[in-house]
Amino acid sequence: MREMTEFLRREYEEMEKQGLTWTIRSLNGPSQPHVKVEGKDCLMLASNNYLDLANDPRLKEAAIKAIEKYGAGAGSDWSIAGTMDIHIELYKKIAKFKNTEDAITFQTGFAANSGLIPQLAGKGDLLVSDELNHGSIIDGVRLTKADRAVYPHSDMAALEKILEDANKKDYRRVIILTDGVFSMDGDIAKMKEICKLADEYQALVYVDDAHGEGVLGDGHGIGKHFNLEKEIHFQIGTFSKAFGSFGGMLAGSRDLILFAYNKARTWLLSAAFPPHVAAANIAALDIVEKEPDRVKRLWDNTKYFKKEVESMGYDTGNSETPIIPLIVGESKKAKRLADKMYDEGIFALAIVYPMVARDKARIRVQMNAGHTKEDLDFALEKLERIGKELKII
Ligand SMILES: *Cc1c(COP(=O)(O)O)cnc(C)c1O
Repeated sequence: MREMTEFLRREYEEMEKQGLTWTIRSLNGPSQPHVKVEGKDCLMLASNNYLDLANDPRLKEAAIKAIEKYGAGAGSDWSIAGTMDIHIELYKKIAKFKNTEDAITFQTGFAANSGLIPQLAGKGDLLVSDELNHGSIIDGVRLTKADRAVYPHSDMAALEKILEDANKKDYRRVIILTDGVFSMDGDIAKMKEICKLADEYQALVYVDDAHGEGVLGDGHGIGKHFNLEKEIHFQIGTFSKAFGSFGGMLAGSRDLILFAYNKARTWLLSAAFPPHVAAANIAALDIVEKEPDRVKRLWDNTKYFKKEVESMGYDTGNSETPIIPLIVGESKKAKRLADKMYDEGIFALAIVYPMVARDKARIRVQMNAGHTKEDLDFALEKLERIGKELKII
């Protein structure tokens, strides 16, 4: 038995040698600006919980009430007997929030992409992807028999060239797929240009707004940010980031939603998320609608922090959102910076090759609406000292 699975250990050891393995650090309580990580008090700079909703009493109360009313689980796949009225209430709420005709949810954003994309395209179609798209889009694309093309990150001339060539080939349909906000660099997709090209070349537009919801467009996401709600044909998102809860979503036309829940295999063949998740999601959307100040605080923190780290000499790349990379170059240096920050009580993630280019290793800092100025100043003071010590700045 042991020999049969030895290859697993060899592969692990190989990854470890190259410094590619994850060290899992577990939280001893809720995800919020101040956390306990394996017994150590830390300032959280690594979570996607942008609006500080993950431990919000209103989300918790909605979830608890839903557990009391509906139980702990949905009991079945979405398609068979797992859809409850509270899920339907959430669909309506999402559609209104996103200003689309209709919406549904998936277990996760990952499940939405990997379940839907393979149904949207097949032989005779072309899928066009930004090279930095999220892995769940990449996996969705891999599950199709469609032709594929990848353009260099946000390179609109390259995208146009692909669309131009595609026009000569008589494809049945062409779909452009992109992240809304790119998770490693924190830059925003050039949606105006993408939608214009799509219109010109009769292509469809598919946007995964996981890091943009709750952040862009007064919290409503990238569609509202660019006033392109009607131009984006497929809007994917997640409740697991700014909305502080869990679950994937899809918003678009009524035709799209009917199609999705009859075709997407992760919707058809996998359980609905529990009713209390739907309840927390509804509460999160309510709060984002009613408390525009929360989104504003997130952006105030982002602007302040970015300005300060840049003036110290840190390279933040193309960041334009609450994802602020501190690009240091070598993987080893990024890891040392993250370790030293952790020693000082700051939890931030080192991101190294192969997640980013070999010479672009970085610390990814993520802002939170719940950070106070004192929190940010604490982090800045440490970053300045450690950055100098390691000769990064
Ligand atoms: C985080 C992320 C996902 C995954 O969302 P989950 O709901 O956590 O599965 C999908 N797409 C993008 C672009 C993401 O950033």
